Amino acid sequence: RAERYALLRDAPAVTRDGKRVQIMMNAGLADDAAALDATGADGIGLFRTEFQFLVSATLPRRERQQALYTAVLDAAGPRPVIFRTIDIGGDKTVPYLNGGEDDENPAMGWRALRLALGRSGLMKVQARALLQAAAGRTLNVMFPMVSEPWEFAEARALVEAQAELLGRAGHALPAQVRYGAMIEVPAIIETLDELLPMTDFVSVGTNDLTQFLFAADRANPRLADRYDWLSPAILRVLRRIIRAAAAAGKPATVCGEMGGRPLEALALLALGVEQLSITPAGVGPIKAMVRSIDLGAVSAAMHGWLDAPGTDIRAALGAMAAAQGA
Ligand code: PEP
Ligand code: MG
Repeated sequence: RAERYALLRDAPAVTRDGKRVQIMMNAGLADDAAALDATGADGIGLFRTEFQFLVSATLPRRERQQALYTAVLDAAGPRPVIFRTIDIGGDKTVPYLNGGEDDENPAMGWRALRLALGRSGLMKVQARALLQAAAGRTLNVMFPMVSEPWEFAEARALVEAQAELLGRAGHALPAQVRYGAMIEVPAIIETLDELLPMTDFVSVGTNDLTQFLFAADRANPRLADRYDWLSPAILRVLRRIIRAAAAAGKPATVCGEMGGRPLEALALLALGVEQLSITPAGVGPIKAMVRSIDLGAVSAAMHGWLDAPGTDIRAALGAMAAAQGA
């Protein structure tokens, strides 16, 4: 099997009916970027910048942040990298930051963009590190846990202001900056019409979105079987997001763990997702699945199931995938 995936490394992820899919990988440390060549991923669709903060005993200064981002961009070469700004807080506390460790419900607490906007000094330093690391290249920056459009607007304005300051001081700037929002808090889905025009892309974080949709702690093993990524509730919400993004002309990608499982990934592609970002180990298996399916047929079936309450979608999709040899 491993050999089969190695052979696929340089083969494009194209379905039998000719649909090209981008398979990116998730990363968080400098070493992870090496997996790009090993897996043949199309880029890094989620770089979790908080990892550097989590493994450090003291606050990483701008120079260290910038060195990491530069190394990752160098390793990626022409392949795109999407940097997510710090998703610290909640359960990912760092002793030197004094964030939300007293929160009673850390996952819903003082974390991610909430913390970053509240302690904007941190965010400004990170913005400068990202902008300088990407000088002369494209910078893709994405904000986690956006709950309301104003949060995205404020974060974007903060990065733009840092770019302006750097430019005035004579620093080289990125050739282009693209701004993305993670869709992982259910409330933002109700205001996508307001959010989407402010963004260049959105990326669905299915780990948190599922947790909040089902009110089920993603880290609690007792709840692991309590909900299914292929349940109509999740798939219908995803369909809404994907349709809204398509209508606004913005690319919608998925960067949660859901996309790393072949049947779940197939469901996402059937709903119209064109780019997945997944754990490196999933790239080979997902590419193999992509190359074996007739996506048009699966897509038509998927919409039928979603419109007909009562279908066991996992069973129906599994049977269809098996029949196609996926
Ligand atoms: C997610 O929530 O799905 C996600 C990709 O981000 P993280 O797992 O880092 O919270
Ligand atoms: Mg998340």
